Amino acid sequence: MKRRAFLKTLGLAGAATAAAAVPGLAAEKPAAPGTVLATLFDLSQCIGCGACVEACREANANRYPEPKKPFPPMYPSRVPVEDWSDKRDVDDRLTPYNWLFIQSATVEHQGKSLEVHMPRRCMHCQKPPCANLCPWGAASKTASGSVRINTDICLGGAKCKTVCPWSIPQRQTGVGLYLDLLPSLAGNGVMYKCDRCHARMAAGGLPACIEACPNEVQSIGPRDEIVAKAHELAKAMSGFIYGETENGGTNTIYVSPVPFEAIQAASPPGPGRPTLAPVTDAMSFETSLAAAAVVAPIAAVAGAVLRAAKRNTDAKEHRHG
Ligand code: SF4
Ligand code: SF4
Ligand code: SF4
Repeated sequence: MKRRAFLKTLGLAGAATAAAAVPGLAAEKPAAPGTVLATLFDLSQCIGCGACVEACREANANRYPEPKKPFPPMYPSRVPVEDWSDKRDVDDRLTPYNWLFIQSATVEHQGKSLEVHMPRRCMHCQKPPCANLCPWGAASKTASGSVRINTDICLGGAKCKTVCPWSIPQRQTGVGLYLDLLPSLAGNGVMYKCDRCHARMAAGGLPACIEACPNEVQSIGPRDEIVAKAHELAKAMSGFIYGETENGGTNTIYVSPVPFEAIQAASPPGPGRPTLAPVTDAMSFETSLAAAAVVAPIAAVAGAVLRAAKRNTDAKEHRHG
């Protein structure tokens, strides 16, 4: 389903008319620097209009990959080519060109049929395996609790996706550092995902998806306040919470009027469509955690070397016309 087409026919003004602000849950300005922030999604308010998806795409369009084709041979040959560059309009799943999508489901609950819409993107884990286990230090957690992938360093090996309980990061072949430096290295691309609009937040703004929502579905604030609000809201609607404890706790918390198991049953997970199953703390089972802790500084140095080498390559290209 093409939500952008749907949004155009609906019209943002129409969606805004349907808006019903939830007292005490309006989007908030972030707190002092260094405060760990979390976002809260009130699914009882989401009408599935897709304005957030559209806003995310517009806000991040200049960061989307522009791959060089034809792609070099993959090594080893089992490494798949993942090319979304001709499918940029796909917006019903995560892709390197779509970091947020709406999972919709019709759910029977307590004798009623309910249409539920759930915006899905990176959960911004408190103990993110993607950041802890990236061999190049390309993925990292910020002081405000978001998790980013530095696309200048990422070599597209997809370790982050493998260790993510929700398989969030998405790979695009034919872009990135490996093309300049290590064309035969396995990986062949760069991983992309939501970074909770790091640049906008750093400049004192709000994530584009929060700003665009006509129904104030999402709010952001200090994690302890967001958790308290989530519990208040869940109590008021006899609802359910997802994200507070999953994977050892995340900075993305959903409150739903229907069980998440029911949403998952009506709208099963698949490629680019993350699970809603309970998730235990991945890092507590990760045997290579100690190794990763050793690797991280080495990777940071390696990353710096790679960046310097890339600068040299760019300078040479510039000199030679
Ligand atoms: S949801 Fe996945 S990609 Fe996002 S921070 Fe957690 S482990 Fe990383
Ligand atoms: S926080 Fe920013 S990058 Fe993440 S889904 Fe929202 S608009 Fe997209
Ligand atoms: S979160 Fe807001 S903008 Fe996104 S689909 Fe729901 S109502 Fe629309």
